[in-house]
Amino acid sequence: MSQNSIVSLPPAYPSPGMAVLPVTADPNATVQTDAPCRKCGYNLRGLMYGGRCPECGSPVGLSTIGDLLRYSDPNWLLMLVRGISFILWGILVALIVGLVGGVLFRTQAAQHWVQIVASLLGLYGAWLLTEPDPSGLGEAQYAIARKLVRVALMVGLGGSVLQAMGATPGVPREIGFGLGIVAIGAAAFGVVGEFAKFVYLGKLAQRIPHDQLAQRARVLCWGYGLTMGASVLIGGIVGLLLIGRPAARTSPVFMGIACAVAIVGLAYLVFAVMTFFFYIRMRRTLLEQVELARQVWGQATARAADQRTPATTGLAARQSSDPLRPGR
Ligand SMILES: [Zn+2]
Repeated sequence: MSQNSIVSLPPAYPSPGMAVLPVTADPNATVQTDAPCRKCGYNLRGLMYGGRCPECGSPVGLSTIGDLLRYSDPNWLLMLVRGISFILWGILVALIVGLVGGVLFRTQAAQHWVQIVASLLGLYGAWLLTEPDPSGLGEAQYAIARKLVRVALMVGLGGSVLQAMGATPGVPREIGFGLGIVAIGAAAFGVVGEFAKFVYLGKLAQRIPHDQLAQRARVLCWGYGLTMGASVLIGGIVGLLLIGRPAARTSPVFMGIACAVAIVGLAYLVFAVMTFFFYIRMRRTLLEQVELARQVWGQATARAADQRTPATTGLAARQSSDPLRPGR
């Protein structure tokens, strides 16, 4: 998509408040390559740079200057920001339950249900965050990761529900065991979604472009993904062992597993906290991009309007002057 660029793009990440719409080619020249409209995806090939999209009225020039986020539809960018807000709330709830859940809730089932609420917040947030760019830009780089996030998170949530059902008191041991095994598989698939989310966010950061954020996304992809995966697996196995026989808590095998859970869980919490701050930073940076995009769109819209004004006023002047002539 970057071959559509007709100007050299600013190389560094600009500070907020410095949005500048690059001076594009002659407004009367026509777009020679396929260029999807930034707002509706309409192919602008053959239209004038100074014109507007026939489908949605967006300035054509804006859609021909590369795939940077600051030229994206500000409403879409704002949706990504809102998505991260929900994800942050989800992580916060999950962290609180993970740290003091044992004190707050008496039963394992109650903890599971609160975790599901956290998962729902995270799922809705991830859904907003993985809304495709309306122009279709970026899809070549991350369409698979973006879609995988959605599928995996849904499967992972289903797994959490099953796990909570399996751990509910009164459920026969065999059924609880079966539900637990299915839940572990589903949760493992949910972990794949977390990997995919960081791959997607890393590629999104490159569209800012913000190398530091992209780098941090790569680190968390492995750190958070692996420790979360290990926690899910070991936690699931412990849950299975305990179903229907709470006495197993004191066996040496269980004590050994409990130690492993503690170590992996601690590593997972460290990465979860890092992830939390990563999202805060990503959210702040995207919010800056919303502001930049609003300014750029404002400038581009004004420029497209200016180019239209002389012709319109000229026509209006002729129409209004004609009836005056006979009167003179
Ligand atoms: Zn359009």
